[in-house]
Amino acid sequence: MNYELDHQDIRESVVRLCADFPGEYWRKCDREQAYPTEFVQALTDAGYLGALIPEDYGGSGLPISAAAAVLEEVHRAGCNAAACHAQMYTMGTVLRHGSEAQKQKYLPGIAEGSLRLQAFGVTEPTSGTDTTALRTTARRDGDRYIVNGQKIWTSRAEHSDLLLLLCRTTPRDQVAKKTDGLSVFLVDMREVLGKSLTIRPIRTMMNHATTEVFFDDMPVPAGNLIGEEGKGFRYILGGMNAERILVASECIGDAKWFIEKASSYAQERSVFGRPIGQNQGIQFPIAKAYGQMRSAELMLREAIRLFEDGHNPGEEANLAKLLAADASWAAGEACLQTHGGFGFAEEYDVERKFRETRLYQVAPISTNLILSYVAEHVLGMPRSY
Ligand SMILES: Cc1cc2nc3c(=O)[nH]c(=O)nc-3n(C[C@H](O)[C@H](O)[C@H](O)COP(=O)(O)OP(=O)(O)OC[C@H]3O[C@@H](n4cnc5c(N)ncnc54)[C@H](O)[C@@H]3O)c2cc1C
Repeated sequence: MNYELDHQDIRESVVRLCADFPGEYWRKCDREQAYPTEFVQALTDAGYLGALIPEDYGGSGLPISAAAAVLEEVHRAGCNAAACHAQMYTMGTVLRHGSEAQKQKYLPGIAEGSLRLQAFGVTEPTSGTDTTALRTTARRDGDRYIVNGQKIWTSRAEHSDLLLLLCRTTPRDQVAKKTDGLSVFLVDMREVLGKSLTIRPIRTMMNHATTEVFFDDMPVPAGNLIGEEGKGFRYILGGMNAERILVASECIGDAKWFIEKASSYAQERSVFGRPIGQNQGIQFPIAKAYGQMRSAELMLREAIRLFEDGHNPGEEANLAKLLAADASWAAGEACLQTHGGFGFAEEYDVERKFRETRLYQVAPISTNLILSYVAEHVLGMPRSY
């Protein structure tokens, strides 16, 4: 797997950083469902989490391909960036749609890591995938808004200062299109936590620091509205391609980790007096997963190329996420099977990575919803929902 990749210098330094966070570190975090604070700090200190913030606001001003390279190498090294990847891209909504004053106020702190913006509240328990049916409301009251409602799966809320929150500001039955009347706010959780904001962690099958959050008459200064009231859904959608590209990069990294781990174990493990990797029943699933990973990676490169050329590559970004999530899952399955019983033993890290990579079939967007997007927007079939 030594074909040429972009951003070689960044990749090499990420590999060196990740060497300080071996399997034992992740196993301990996983066992205790603990936040990988030291790892997040190391990525922050290295400046990677501010990679996409323009230099004018204190970031590195790197292209998305550089951020993708960082996340891929983190995952390829057996680490997991889910604890902090959103610090890289959640700020995109502020960058694209925030006022100059908001950018000056927040982006430099986010770039240096003194301010965390890595919580993103869209999903709700009742609306789920049907985002425009969300029920959290923000009502204007003088120079502030009053927020009431609930979000679920708000990841990293306990490890974030700010929350990018999507609320309804005009009831659904009073807008021409159901995508109208939704607004985005930047909530400073430090001011309201324990008062009108409650965060409850959710234990999940992998260590993900996800939570549910409750808003009970939570005041948000009107100055924290991002862009125009009622246009929030478009602003959130505008950040989706970047998120798909970056999550696809993590899946590619996971797939490479599984494939490398599986092929080397297949050569070491000897049963019936020969390496198990000599059997085609072991070779083929790994080779097939490699093929899936390489084709997903090509689609990802195309999405990145178009994105960096200023296009809006909805088709390519969605397909890259779909194919990369499938490739990482296929590679995880092949890796677990190759390890036989040892695949289930914690110390091999395979079962942990297997649990971690399963998430990408569901979040941040489920496989079905990508297929619906392709069917409707690429192939012109009728909308199914
Ligand atoms: C660990 C984790 C972290 C997350 N982090 C965040 C976060 O930080 N912020 C945030 O806002 N959200 C977050 N999410 C939420 C995630 O985006 C949603 O779980 C996902 O979008 C699916 O929504 P749902 O769980 O409500 O499923 P539902 O909408 O209830 O759907 C259930 C199943 O039905 C399928 N389905 C629904 N409608 C259709 C349809 N029309 N056609 C075909 N299939 C359909 C879905 O694909 C899914 O498989 C996270 C989720 C998890 C599990």
